[in-house]
Amino acid sequence: MKLKLIPFLLFCIFLFSCKQKQKVDIIVHNGVVYTVDSSFTKAQAFAIKDGKFVAVGSNDEILNHYSATKTIDAGGKAIYPGLIDAHCHFYSYGKMKSEADLVGCLSFKEVIDRLVAYSKTNKSTWIIGRGWDQNRWPGKEFPVNDTLDLLFPNTPVYLSRVDGHAALVNQKALDLAAISSKTKIEGGKLMLKPQPTKETSNVLLSGILIDNACDLVKKVIPLPSKAEMKQYLLKAQEDCFKVGLTTIDDAGLDKNIIDLIDEMQKKGELKMRIYAMANPTDENLQYYLKHGPYKSDYLHVCSFKFYADGALGSRGACLLKPYLDRPNEQGFLLNKPDYYKEMAKKIAASSFQMNTHCIGDSANRFILDVYASVLGKDNKRRWRIEHAQIVNKDDFVKFGTYHILPSVQPTHATSDMYWAKDRIGVERLKGGYAYKQLMEENGVLPTGSDFPVESINPLLGFYAAFTRLDSIGFPPGGFQSENALTREEALKGMTIWAAYANFEEKEKGSIEPGKFADYVILDKDIMKVTPPEVFKTKVVTNSLR
Ligand SMILES: [Zn+2]
Repeated sequence: MKLKLIPFLLFCIFLFSCKQKQKVDIIVHNGVVYTVDSSFTKAQAFAIKDGKFVAVGSNDEILNHYSATKTIDAGGKAIYPGLIDAHCHFYSYGKMKSEADLVGCLSFKEVIDRLVAYSKTNKSTWIIGRGWDQNRWPGKEFPVNDTLDLLFPNTPVYLSRVDGHAALVNQKALDLAAISSKTKIEGGKLMLKPQPTKETSNVLLSGILIDNACDLVKKVIPLPSKAEMKQYLLKAQEDCFKVGLTTIDDAGLDKNIIDLIDEMQKKGELKMRIYAMANPTDENLQYYLKHGPYKSDYLHVCSFKFYADGALGSRGACLLKPYLDRPNEQGFLLNKPDYYKEMAKKIAASSFQMNTHCIGDSANRFILDVYASVLGKDNKRRWRIEHAQIVNKDDFVKFGTYHILPSVQPTHATSDMYWAKDRIGVERLKGGYAYKQLMEENGVLPTGSDFPVESINPLLGFYAAFTRLDSIGFPPGGFQSENALTREEALKGMTIWAAYANFEEKEKGSIEPGKFADYVILDKDIMKVTPPEVFKTKVVTNSLR
């Protein structure tokens, strides 16, 4: 009698367990899952339904309780939340891909050689290039446009510096923009050719434009068509997916591009999640302040992006004391102080964030004080300072006191470390690229790359953040290594802390039930492998791809 009961009981258990198994769309198991939850828990598996994580746990917990249409065996590989780039230029990156690539040129001659090659295959009305950096050339001096005028007398040429804060243009471009040596520019500069004599009647423009001067020429470059703009976005998405990104923060977009992104996302053409910072143009301010923040599963518009100053490389960063290598220069704010104060008041009265690019210690101090005056202590507005690159020692505390979030790019430290001390000296540099110190102010530090200024690969930022080394392991011990983050902090910077800076920590940034099922599987465990191995790590799966 008893023996006859056993098969019956087993059958009941079988039926019971079948009935209990919850149907989901995808199960991922047999992984080393870094959930990046508040206790930094590790798991082995998770279940996904309708694009959201529904359960995270051990292999047994997930496989015994869920059945899925698709089951993925991660083969013991490491899995992380989808990576977020908290500051980049997604659209510009895609656009740049259609332009002459001048990144990595080791001389001005190489710039010219690449342009000549480019102009043979690309026949458009303008020649646009991007990415040169005179700090990599012998002499480190800005170039002049003589050769461009010889080679391209009738085709306008616009070549952005790597940081986008300076450009070299030829005479044809200057003519089209009606720029002469008499043109006056607020928040920008036109550089002159070295003068043989002191006679001022004969001043000639060198073709180098700094900051707002660039806009005068950009204004006359024909706008791309809608089809071209779509191509730029799709190209950027393709490259982002390859390196594990699932959300990007585009630091400055106009409404027409934001609308196009929304349109493409709604049609399923664009799958990248985008936190779009709106440029503070009249049109954007008028529209968004009237309509309020916009949020879909794929797009979030809740901030405006301002520029306080320029970049250190082109000496446009606004400093409290003169540049060490140019005692007569101190950089400058790109607008009048009152402009930022008025804007801060206007935005404080709305529900938008204000995100301001600040490089120099003066720009950082000024904007921190402007923010502080409208936000007060213990506010929940999460206003951001983009880059927070050189901060005076007295100003760090303001980030914490007024809950202002520094949004930093760890590869900037290892790109600038070769020459930054020439610009500002050892003493000031101590408050530069001070990521650990900045992180400690609020206990969070969103990180990004600023691509296309730096590489699009977030793992290079992760590596730079915890090693403070360049790709060949220079300098020994790391650059100002007291400001290195731990690997855990570096991972949080490109996941949960970036989500926090976007007001998205409830739906992104960790592998937890209820959040978007954005994850990446890497071929190596970046939390464990040697630093050089991080460089070689590849993305096996990006959940959005
Ligand atoms: Zn940027």
